[in-house]
Amino acid sequence: MANRFYIMNDCIFCHIIAGDIPCEKVYEDSHVLAFLDITPVNPGHTLVVPKEHYADMAGTPVPVLIHLIEVVQKVGNAVLKSGLAQGFNVGLNNGAAAGQSVLHTHFHIVPRNVNDGHSLWHGKKYVPGQATAVAAQLRRTML
Ligand code: 5GP
Ligand code: ZN
Repeated sequence: MANRFYIMNDCIFCHIIAGDIPCEKVYEDSHVLAFLDITPVNPGHTLVVPKEHYADMAGTPVPVLIHLIEVVQKVGNAVLKSGLAQGFNVGLNNGAAAGQSVLHTHFHIVPRNVNDGHSLWHGKKYVPGQATAVAAQLRRTML
């Protein structure tokens, strides 16, 4: 895997992209690499990463994200068509507080089957008035 992108020395995904560390490749083009997660939720759990190093989604340019999503859909369709799973979750952890352990932007594609024992988050309830205030706070911030 030849790499013309700058490598962050302390970034394990940069080393995978550079070919210094092996991976089970699922897809590659000039800007994106997809490979199996080493500790899968289910077999076929795939990570989709930009070859250029960005620490997190919040700081990743939109054109890069658009291409990443194209590849996420491609891999997701392969998960379904291959018969590996009946569905899939797409996830991205942004920041340590959200569980991001590798600081190189990546989407997770998690193959899912009914009753596979994996559970997603459990929702909380808003107190009265809180949802209206929170939505207003987010809208103000985006102005
Ligand atoms: P995060 O918690 O940052 O969203 O996800 C990082 C993911 O990278 C984890 O699911 C972890 O299993 C995976 N991972 C960490 N190191 C390696 C590695 O060396 N090779 C591969 N294939 N996956 C890795
Ligand atoms: Zn990196």
